[in-house]
Amino acid sequence: MFSNQELSEIKNLLSRKPKIVILTHQNPDGDAIGSSLGLQHALRNRGLEAEIIVPNDFPKFLKWMPEARKITVAEYKYKKAFEIFQQAELIFCLDFNSSSRIGRIGNWLDKSKATTILIDHHQMPEHFDYVYSDTSLPATGQMVYHFLSAMGWEDAITKESAECLYTGIMTDTGGFRFRSTSANTHRITANLIEKGADPAFISSETWDRNSVARLHLLALVLGRIEVTKDGEVAILWLTRDELESFGYEKGATEGFVNYGLSILGTKISAFFMEDIREDFIKISFRSKDDVDVNSFARKYFNGGGHINAAGGRSELSMQETLAKFKEIVLEEEF
Ligand code: 5GP
Ligand code: MN
Repeated sequence: MFSNQELSEIKNLLSRKPKIVILTHQNPDGDAIGSSLGLQHALRNRGLEAEIIVPNDFPKFLKWMPEARKITVAEYKYKKAFEIFQQAELIFCLDFNSSSRIGRIGNWLDKSKATTILIDHHQMPEHFDYVYSDTSLPATGQMVYHFLSAMGWEDAITKESAECLYTGIMTDTGGFRFRSTSANTHRITANLIEKGADPAFISSETWDRNSVARLHLLALVLGRIEVTKDGEVAILWLTRDELESFGYEKGATEGFVNYGLSILGTKISAFFMEDIREDFIKISFRSKDDVDVNSFARKYFNGGGHINAAGGRSELSMQETLAKFKEIVLEEEF
């Protein structure tokens, strides 16, 4: 958490009613959108208006969250996003810690004179004016709760805010399953439920919205799942042509990588997917226990993330990428 000195400086800054922007990462996920909206609603309750900017669009299954559709998506409203950004005096950076994670906005952030406040749980944060970074916490949504609580602003967590923070925690813990899910996570979640977040409603709005096309795509991926290194590594992949033939929509493959980890004996699951527009392969890594896919993704695939969930990219063809990956994992010790 921020020190008491930092908290009082932040309070002082906020008391001047600055122009506030909340920024989150490229390809925003449930925690990115949930923590940003959760903070925005709570700030509003304290009489502070904040604009949320995201580099590119996010999946439909996150758009049910209160005011999600008012978020400025820079890839569609570039000029508007730029204008809002230029006026910002205070910028909350949520769920990312490096300007390389926010696409073209990274450039704006690097040049900005606004005060920056980081709240994030990824490894190796870059420089920000105020840094609350804790890689042991499962979700930025939980960190926003801790932050509001440390400010003495728990009362500002309205039903809307609670629903969004709950969604961030629920999605980043894979439904309260992943390793960093703690007693404290559940305590906070219980408080959010008391403040109006409805678990059945939220999980249904977020997760029970499969299209038949998505299930067919999942069937294709599961049908070709492959394990290597004596069953320790699972491999899944999809080409752009396959995605297009199923009428790909953003977020359609969310969660596919987790199926590789559900196989008894696997330590790592890797999902390779050709980008729908640009010429590269997006890779998702997941791992069990102490197997560190963050270092792996950084070392070999120009990426990063968390110990048990990371991403990366490859500019090679699918066949070359899969061959490279298999060669590397056979040599690595996990
Ligand atoms: P996902 O596989 O869901 O896209 O990403 C898993 C985790 O890795 C997320 O926490 C995400 O922020 C991080 N991540 C994904 N892709 C990249 C990347 O290219 N670079 C870095 N540094 N982190 C990534
Ligand atoms: Mn997160």
